[in-house]
Amino acid sequence: MYRTHTCGELNIHDVNTIVTLSGWVQRSRDLGGMTFLDLRDRYGITQLVFNMETDPELCKKARKLGREYVVQAIGTVTERSNKNKNIPTGEIEIVVDNLTVLNPAEVPPFTIETNTDGGDELRMKFRYLDLRRDPLKKNLLLRHKLAQEVRSYLNSMNFIEIETPYLIKSTPEGARDFVVPSRMNQGQFYALPQSPQTFKQLLMISGYDRYYQLARCFRDEDLRADRQPEFTQIDCEMSFVVQDDVLNTFEGLVKYLFLKLKGLDLRDTFPRIPYDEAIRDYGTDKPDLRFEMKIKEITSLAKNQGFRIFDQAEYIGGICASSCADYSRKQLDKLTSFVTQPQIGAKGLVFVKFNEDGSVKSSVDKFFDSEALNKWKEVFQAKAGDLLLILAGDSTATLTALAELRLEMANQMGLRDNKLFVPLWVVDFPLLEWNDESGRYHAKHHPFTSPKSEDLRFLESDPSKVHADAYDLVINGVEIGGGSIRIHDKQMQQKMFRHLGFTDELAETQFGFLMNAFKYGAPPHGGIALGFDRLAALFGGSESIRDFIAFPKNNSGRDIMIESPSIISNNQLNELNLKVRQ
Ligand code: ASP
Repeated sequence: MYRTHTCGELNIHDVNTIVTLSGWVQRSRDLGGMTFLDLRDRYGITQLVFNMETDPELCKKARKLGREYVVQAIGTVTERSNKNKNIPTGEIEIVVDNLTVLNPAEVPPFTIETNTDGGDELRMKFRYLDLRRDPLKKNLLLRHKLAQEVRSYLNSMNFIEIETPYLIKSTPEGARDFVVPSRMNQGQFYALPQSPQTFKQLLMISGYDRYYQLARCFRDEDLRADRQPEFTQIDCEMSFVVQDDVLNTFEGLVKYLFLKLKGLDLRDTFPRIPYDEAIRDYGTDKPDLRFEMKIKEITSLAKNQGFRIFDQAEYIGGICASSCADYSRKQLDKLTSFVTQPQIGAKGLVFVKFNEDGSVKSSVDKFFDSEALNKWKEVFQAKAGDLLLILAGDSTATLTALAELRLEMANQMGLRDNKLFVPLWVVDFPLLEWNDESGRYHAKHHPFTSPKSEDLRFLESDPSKVHADAYDLVINGVEIGGGSIRIHDKQMQQKMFRHLGFTDELAETQFGFLMNAFKYGAPPHGGIALGFDRLAALFGGSESIRDFIAFPKNNSGRDIMIESPSIISNNQLNELNLKVRQ
């Protein structure tokens, strides 16, 4: 037997028991006649002790062990004189009688401790060693618990877990597909699913009215900091539901998860904010509601008053930062640099200080007297001591910039408390989104999303006016997931494809299977997918999903541990009848 116990379970009640432990040498210390060795496994650390006087041979053997050697020790659990209250095994140690080296180890490229000395790149290259460290271990355990709880909740609600294939045909979720050449069907390719979207809809047609899957999705996108080319979704679909049924069910899931994983009882119903309102008030469809600081528009008050920048602007608006009128010139200059950086793209920043003494000072004093500025004050409901920050320009770009400025100010004011969780639903998304580059409409969510029946009358005359039964779940400014009620009617689906610029032939070759299925009794249905990695990161208190994935890829989509992607042999290429162009 390699072990009778793990390295995390022995305590004062086990004193005098003879035990066998196996694990990794975390570190060793020689103190005069004694050698102490920390033995580590997944469950914890147990101290082994060797005595030079009573067993010099064994003690010398212990002293030769290097970090990360895999060893087995047999000995007696003994009460420690020097107790360590910080670990569960800290009251005992094992007085070792027998020590076996199961496998020696080379010196690892970085120390396997909570705070390691290894740089990012190095730790990715040796991910299997990094995974031995506590922080990552904690994350993977949390991920495991999350999966268990998701399944437990959904199972209790009559959902059944069904796997869908990975080798499929393109599903347009807005990203590029990863493709896989087929050997048996030369010249043809599978696509890896961007999500199981069409399959889960087909399952509804098959009558499996509540489906879920912890599904891997693959999207060949340029990777921003917190994206992975393959990621996991809690993918769900339900039949005979309207939007509220889906929202209520998954609000229930999210509340259940907060309770189980964070011990937090989120009692209140999540606010449901229409998309247009979210954009108007927060400049974004994923607002952080841990704080108020709503965006206010002052276009009608501030335009055509002789200030050229405002006069040329389509939109003038800003935010009110409470008690920030004491911001210094330097702080304001920094904010100006912040909003004018290329990623944010504002042309400049106008400020108004409503000083504690009642005076008003602004960067546009030349054009606006205090009477005019006090009118702005009313719009913002600003108080003495508050600071207005105003941007102007094209509507969309300015609102987007204001969204960033709002977050930046909240950061500076300490309003983004990471102990606080404020979920909300953003609802009534636009059905379509104009794309300048392609000169046509794209689906805002995906082509299977149902338009709101009351907006159908605009579908031909002004498609941009049509809203959809589509919704996103947002927590603390992060999009956690989204879904929609689906089209379940062949004609409607066909019409939608036409609006998205598909010819009938193309729609038929790509999605004929779905539209055909609609002919055989498709129930009304809808669903949602929540980002599983992102939820894990949220519960783990981290910004980065990478820390919650055992073997993630880097920002260039590479796994630098296994060195993938890589070239394949000519044999493999020949079998696929493929040739790589130089
Ligand atoms: N398939 C969608 C997505 O991945 C989610 C859904 O509509 O259920 O975003």
